[in-house]
Amino acid sequence: MDVLGNYIDGRFIKPERPDAELEIRSPANLEDVVGRFPVAVSAVDEAVASANRAKRAWADTSQQDRNAAVLRLKAELGKREASFVDLISREVGKPRWEALTEHKAMVAKADVTLNEGLKLIANFTPSGLSGECRFRPHGVLAVIGPFNFPGHLPNGHIIPALAAGNCVVFKPSEVTPGVGQLYAEAVHASGLPAGVFQLVQGARSVGERLSSIAGIDGILFTGSHAVGAAIQHANAENPGKILALELGGKNCSLVLEDADFDKAVYDVLFSAYVTSGQRCSATSRALVHKSLVDRFTARMAELVKTLVVGDPSRADVFMGPVTTAAGLEKFLAGCAEGEREGAEAIVPAGRFQAEHKGHYAQPALHRVNKIVNTSKYQREELFGPDLAIYAIDDLDHGIAMANAVDYGLTAGVFTRDAATFERCAARIEAGVINWNAPTVGSSSRLPFGGLKRSGNHRPAGVFSSLYCAYPIAITRGEASLDRKVVAPGVKWT
Ligand code: NAD
Repeated sequence: MDVLGNYIDGRFIKPERPDAELEIRSPANLEDVVGRFPVAVSAVDEAVASANRAKRAWADTSQQDRNAAVLRLKAELGKREASFVDLISREVGKPRWEALTEHKAMVAKADVTLNEGLKLIANFTPSGLSGECRFRPHGVLAVIGPFNFPGHLPNGHIIPALAAGNCVVFKPSEVTPGVGQLYAEAVHASGLPAGVFQLVQGARSVGERLSSIAGIDGILFTGSHAVGAAIQHANAENPGKILALELGGKNCSLVLEDADFDKAVYDVLFSAYVTSGQRCSATSRALVHKSLVDRFTARMAELVKTLVVGDPSRADVFMGPVTTAAGLEKFLAGCAEGEREGAEAIVPAGRFQAEHKGHYAQPALHRVNKIVNTSKYQREELFGPDLAIYAIDDLDHGIAMANAVDYGLTAGVFTRDAATFERCAARIEAGVINWNAPTVGSSSRLPFGGLKRSGNHRPAGVFSSLYCAYPIAITRGEASLDRKVVAPGVKWT
């Protein structure tokens, strides 16, 4: 692609003296060079300065005009469907059908924000009071994105941030700078005033600068727990800076005795392996009632062995590659470590030979018969195509197992019984709890966020508007002094 550089103060500009270059090759075909993107940490300072020059005027722009700007951005994103699908698929390795669902979610975000999200930050007057609550934008918000949804997840922060009156500095993942640039091209074409949105390309050093520089009023981050925690530490002295941390998961699906067997198998399969298992919401643990677990394991193995893996541009492919070489190595090492700790390989992990040279993995399936509390495999996010099956004795055992990890993002419950589901809904420690549904594919019209190591109680989804503005109280007094209200002991003469 034609690499344009960063987007600062309303124009694309390549760094004069880059510190580094991101060479992006498609994980689906290492011969396919997407582009070479120059990086300069100093661009962060320029972008933040530009956003600060623009923030007063954007905050003062009427809600109506900001909404119109968001709708123009929606239209420009919509016009670029083919380019987004192509680039998401090439950079992440997602099959095109899946890249298309990501693009659709991006386009839908504008209406969700304008019609529903902004209601959460609408000014209000309590009855019988002359005072009111108003919401103000924070100022300049940094948006730091992950690689697995390079369009949808940053967009899920950017649209509400802009609608609420903030300026934005966006750093896409270093794995997906092409999608980042395409997003900035859509913003540019939408005619947003200069400085309201900036794009800065780069990896960790750029992210670190962006999350510690003065002039940023909040950080809307989606990524791993480790980096979220680093951002929190970097801002320990700045409690006034809003941090919205959307982090990882170690999610489970509970399959109970009365579950519809096929429905549970299909939804768990989909949740575990879609996007090559690289979703924060992926099911990585299936907690299956002991009466079903052998049949469940056998059926899952049959399906996992026959999942179609290959070039994501093919229409018949379910799973493309793992996105990075390091991600593939980590996945293979994680499965091997799990096996050393006692997990039984039902379908062993391995490298998959596809039609092109790329980071393809053989999807894996494990059975865990022994809980090892120190096991990284059993407790940490693996972020690859694997599912571990555990047997549970009954509902409460399943709930205890669901809660026995340090993450709390999503959970699935497969049962026909409403009371059983309600018991889970009240007790499972997760921010998203689905009944007879996959753990992936959440609605943008509901909150999406996690507990424990999965987030900091600032869910995205429709709730993203809430962390893009803060409430202030306005109280109106009498214009002149009423002597009757003078307090005892004040000698007012
Ligand atoms: P990551 O944490 O490695 O990187 C995310 C972003 O942070 C990248 O842009 C990266 O350059 C930047 N970064 C790295 N070090 C930084 C630092 N010290 N300071 C500031 N920024 C820094 O995550 P990833 O590998 O891109 O994405 C996968 C992770 O994201 C998984 O853990 C997944 O579960 C999580 N995720 C969470 C959600 C959610 O909504 N909860 C959604 C998608 C992905």
